[in-house]
Amino acid sequence: MSYPSLVQIETIVECTSNCKMCGMRKMTRSRGTMSWDLFQKVIHDCSEFDVSIVCPFINGEPLCDDRMISMLWYIKRELPRASIGWFTNGLLLSKRIITELAQIGTLERGIFNFGLHGGNSETYTQNTKVPWKDALEKLDLLVAVNTQLDTPFEIHVQMCDFSLTHDSIEDFRELCHQRGVQAHVCCFSNFGGLIHDEIGEAPFRDLEYMLCARSQTHIYVLWDGSVTTCCFDVNGVNTMGNVKEHTLREIWESDRYQTFRQLHCDGRFSEIPVCRDCNSNRFGG
Ligand code: SF4
Repeated sequence: MSYPSLVQIETIVECTSNCKMCGMRKMTRSRGTMSWDLFQKVIHDCSEFDVSIVCPFINGEPLCDDRMISMLWYIKRELPRASIGWFTNGLLLSKRIITELAQIGTLERGIFNFGLHGGNSETYTQNTKVPWKDALEKLDLLVAVNTQLDTPFEIHVQMCDFSLTHDSIEDFRELCHQRGVQAHVCCFSNFGGLIHDEIGEAPFRDLEYMLCARSQTHIYVLWDGSVTTCCFDVNGVNTMGNVKEHTLREIWESDRYQTFRQLHCDGRFSEIPVCRDCNSNRFGG
């Protein structure tokens, strides 16, 4: 049996933004913060298999957790062969945090992902309810601090393509070009059918279902220890177990989880809640 190469851990369910394309808006499960003991237990469980990437967030902004830098150091120490997947909306960045992230030095392929979901003031603020100048100030701070680092990050700026942002794609590319950072226009996810958007979903309507990577190689631990199969399963519908009762490896090896993966391999999406309504499996998850 092969084991997951990527583990995502929801240390906190909080965000500084309120993006309209985010599945968090449809979250009905209780919100909370993972205890430090449970976080340590999850990292210890990860050491039982050769995990390549650990992402210390699922839903929300990782820097809302004021233990985040300590958590990253802990991951680095306990899982020295793993790299850290890093996405932030940037709003809580400071010079100290950027510098410390550079010192930790294990961001996956040296990439710093910065979410900027709107290419100009109007679209960004409509989408997020956050002032545009706040986001640009943080992006400019990141660029400025980065130029002073011994080993600079590769800065990737992400914008989701959907009805609110679609007309700002050229503005988005231009502002990234001006700052010398990479622009990534990302696919809209409907979070297993929880949210819909005509423009965002249009490119995928006629595509065939594909076997998605998330179903076969990723595992997701929610703040209360529940283990689910996908970051798009924001309500934990496909919960496979809880790390308070079992190890991550035991949960991955369970009959229920094996059946889930086999159904995917057999293309039987219609039998799997969340996945059957998901658009992301049209582009491989
Ligand atoms: S089909 Fe969609 S919801 Fe299911 S695991 Fe794949 S990406 Fe996630």
